[in-house]
Amino acid sequence: MPQIRVLPDILVKKIAAGEVIERPASVVKELMENAVDAGATRIEVAVEQGGGSLIRVADDGCGMSADDLRLAVTSHATSKLVNEDDLFHIETLGFRGEALASVGSVARLRMLSRPRNLDEGAEIVVEAEEVHANRAAGCPVGTVVEVRDLFFNVPARRKFLRAAGTEYGHVHTQFARIALAHPHIAFDLKNNGRSVHQLSPADSRRARLGGFYSRELAEGLLEFDREEAGLRLEGYAAPPADARSSTNWQLTFLNGRYIRDKNIQHAIRESFRGLIDPHRHPVVFLFLTIDSQAVDVNVHPTKIEVRWQDARLVHSQVLSALRETLQRAELTPALSTQRGFEPRPAGGGVSDMESRRSLMSGIAEEFKQTQPIQPDLAFGPGIRGSGERSASWPGRSTGGGGANLEAWREAYRPVDSGGDVAHDSGDADAGIADAGGEAAVALPSDFPLRGAIQLHNTYLVCETNDGMMIIDQHALHERVLFEQFKQRIASGKLESQRLLLPESLHVSESQLALLDTFGELFERVGLEIARFGADSVAIHAVPTVLKEGDVVGAVRDLFDRLEQTGQDEPTETILYDLLSMMACKAAVKAGDALTREEIDALIAHRDMVEKSSNCPHGRPTTLRLTVKDLERQFKRT
Ligand code: ADP
Ligand code: MG
Repeated sequence: MPQIRVLPDILVKKIAAGEVIERPASVVKELMENAVDAGATRIEVAVEQGGGSLIRVADDGCGMSADDLRLAVTSHATSKLVNEDDLFHIETLGFRGEALASVGSVARLRMLSRPRNLDEGAEIVVEAEEVHANRAAGCPVGTVVEVRDLFFNVPARRKFLRAAGTEYGHVHTQFARIALAHPHIAFDLKNNGRSVHQLSPADSRRARLGGFYSRELAEGLLEFDREEAGLRLEGYAAPPADARSSTNWQLTFLNGRYIRDKNIQHAIRESFRGLIDPHRHPVVFLFLTIDSQAVDVNVHPTKIEVRWQDARLVHSQVLSALRETLQRAELTPALSTQRGFEPRPAGGGVSDMESRRSLMSGIAEEFKQTQPIQPDLAFGPGIRGSGERSASWPGRSTGGGGANLEAWREAYRPVDSGGDVAHDSGDADAGIADAGGEAAVALPSDFPLRGAIQLHNTYLVCETNDGMMIIDQHALHERVLFEQFKQRIASGKLESQRLLLPESLHVSESQLALLDTFGELFERVGLEIARFGADSVAIHAVPTVLKEGDVVGAVRDLFDRLEQTGQDEPTETILYDLLSMMACKAAVKAGDALTREEIDALIAHRDMVEKSSNCPHGRPTTLRLTVKDLERQFKRT
């Protein structure tokens, strides 16, 4: 029978150290957090050999006396917790009193420190838990911690350390997380004696982000700052065109601490759904501030995960903040022949976007009055049969004749105080408002100046206020229809058409069960499906938009999809997919010739629907090329 023993103290400490100190970067994190907790205004970090041979963190914080130094390296010794109650509203980054003791048990640790009120400082040296010296020493106010030869006495751990370059990468990640979370503190990072970062105190989070990411990215970030139900949410999101292939560019901070949170990641993904390719990940920096009692940070050894009192509130706040921010932004990527797609040129700040947005909704309002648009028109029969299509084209003039685009531009004219819409090629940036002198707002840069032409029965090319845009007719029509479906669903259900002869479809046993689970959903989109015998269903009615198409095929696809993932998904997600599938089937295809009216109506709709920059699957609908880009390409400047 195996014998049970109480472990010797040193072994217990090594086990505990293993939880907190995994690699040099963990030491850097703990030491930097201590410096932040000490109220430092400047923190300097230096590492050698990826931190394996030396880690040095110096701060100008509150410092420690000689006695405190002795206590600081003892396990379970902390100044940050007094009683049990404190554990449930932690305001500091540390609180376990474990870090320094752990470091002291697996490395050579030396600390120098002086509190502001003392003339002399003190030193302590700890090696493999042995205190070798604890004496007076001259030093400036603050603390310097040096950690040498990490894991020198734990060969098994030392073996796991990677190449210095890899370890340094982790150190840099930790450094960035703490520096991003505390923009008002100055930070300095040196690697093998070479200065990597010298960050002076920043007056905004955006400025600090600029210290780590490219200027273009930092300047192009869409920003929000809101507070609701005790949760303050500051956020910075890059436009969808800047999405990355990994989630490394999504950082969440809670009360000054970097955290990982599945719930928040999900909200971020949802908010960008339909704006980016599903395999890419948005760039988002979120800073949350919440009362320390509303969250438990004591659930993970390195405190990287937390438990929320109200996780749903956090999810819904993040989702709605991001959605609103994306909605009011100009998201059409600029086309550059040199660098492929790139984010819209920086400079258009939030106020610019806001004015643009209010302008657009103004135009949309006026346009609605001039040319009543029935969202239903899009549901009319035969959208895809080119003969009948114009009868049902979204936004087609019901007054008989007259291009919508003309009417739309007419509706805009009152804002333009008299100037002609054509711009002066020498001054591509000047909006109409400048030409007119009096008007308050400039034309949006992508305002279409005249009717588009169709290329290869697939693309629409159009002169705009600041250049030109190229539209993928299928992608844009898909988005327009999708938004109309959504609007329709929000206020009832989709228009449905009964089939003269029901269509039957063979299904599996488990697919039959879907009828009960999703009956209500089917009804909302205008699908009427009933059990038909033991292994079939009968389709009695379909959404009007689908009645021309392959009804059986569409329903079969739907059943397959629901069977695979439907049970675990929120209804909203399924509905979204369903509507985007219908929009895709009902939209004009590449290769369909369009009439002048149809082209104009489609262009006019571009500014009346949300997210018109991308189709519901996230592919772009529109590319832009500015006059400036053209001038650059033709070497005119
Ligand atoms: P914790 O941070 O969880 O309290 P640590 O082992 O990291 O545990 O630190 C123990 C104590 O040492 C802290 O509570 C703090 O009082 C003191 N201390 C550590 N680092 C510093 C520092 N850089 N400046 C001032 N005091 C410090
Ligand atoms: Mg600590």
